[in-house]
Formats: sequence, structure tokens, C-alpha cells
Amino acid sequence: MKVGVLALQGDFVEHAAVLESLKVEAAEVRMPAHLGGLDALILPGGESTTIGKLAEHYGLIEPLREFARDHAVWGTCAGAILMSRDAHRRQPLLELMNITVARNAFGPQVESFETDLDIPALRDVELPGRPYHAIFIRAPLIESVRGNACALATLRDGRIVAAREGRWLATSFHPELTADTRFHRYFLGLARQEQPWNPLRQ
Ligand code: GLN
Repeated sequence: MKVGVLALQGDFVEHAAVLESLKVEAAEVRMPAHLGGLDALILPGGESTTIGKLAEHYGLIEPLREFARDHAVWGTCAGAILMSRDAHRRQPLLELMNITVARNAFGPQVESFETDLDIPALRDVELPGRPYHAIFIRAPLIESVRGNACALATLRDGRIVAAREGRWLATSFHPELTADTRFHRYFLGLARQEQPWNPLRQ
């Protein structure tokens, strides 16, 4: 298994380190050719406008969409914004997932926070279930999920902070910044699924 991490801006090094700790080969993706031979792709946190503009500049938008047709893709924080169809403003997006996000929904950098989440899907990875400690840094909120997208995790007040659509994931928080590897293992499980679920070809 070889997993790419989009390495234009943001915390791609941290994602690669988690993958390597799980004995999975990680590859930095900066150009369309780097997508060849990958089994899955992670879009890291950072600044979604910057990542989107750089992706446009390097001719990556269409190749990333094409890759996503047949592969698992996971966006964390800024990456989740890139996965969305709608971020309430004009900026380059991959427009893959049927989710609407609100950028910086929890306030400025100083309002960053950590909290424990109950994520039932992680019981597919490890039993018994235990709280998942999540780090939010100027995070987006997943305002709504539609169609085949569903919520994977919510805050206690019901606001959505993780979503799944087939083999695509979006998380408002940063699993690559904690020692808990369950979310990465959950994603690798989706990447290994033999019959890819393919919303774009329905
Ligand atoms: N605030 C950033 C954005 O809107 C995301 C922050 C992050 O990835 N930690 O793109």
C-alpha cells in the first residue's frame, strides 16, 4: 500500500510520519505525475485558498478529481474544505463531497481547541470504542451533508465535524497531530476495500 500526501502547503510531513509509523509507504504529491501508483491520497491541513491556488497552478485540480473517482481520498481541516462542493466563497475546490463547509467557523487561531469525540465508526478499527481526542485549529465546520454523504462525528451540540461519502472522508480536526492512529487506520481500511464505491460513475 502506497499513500500520497498532497505536499503543496500545510502539515503534510505529519501525515506522512503517521503513515510510516503504520508501515505504509507515504509519497509527497506536488505534480500530476506523482499520483501514479498511489492507492489513496490525503489532503493535509493548512490554508485551503493557498493549497487550492497552488493545485491550480500545478495543473493538479483535474488529475486529483480523476484520481478520486477510483480511490480513497481524505481531507483534514483545509483538506476537508478542498473536498467540499461549497465553502460559501469563490476559491478553487475539488468539489467532490456533498458537504457544505463554513471556514473558520470556530473563530480565529486563538479560539483553537481540543475536545473528546465519540466516533462510532472507529469501532470498525478497534474495540472497545473509546473517546477520540480531536484538535481543532481555525477549523471549518461541516454545515450540512447531502446525498450519499453522512456525518461520522459531531460535537456534543450536534454540529458535524467529520463526514464520509463512500471512500472519501472529511475531518474538521487534525488526526495527524495526535498519537492516536485510529483515524488513519480507518482511512486505510477504506482504501483497501476491493469494490470501490464510485459516486461519480453512478
Ligand atoms: N482556516 C484554514 C482554512 O480555512 C484551515 C485551517 C487548518 O487547516 N488548520 O483553510
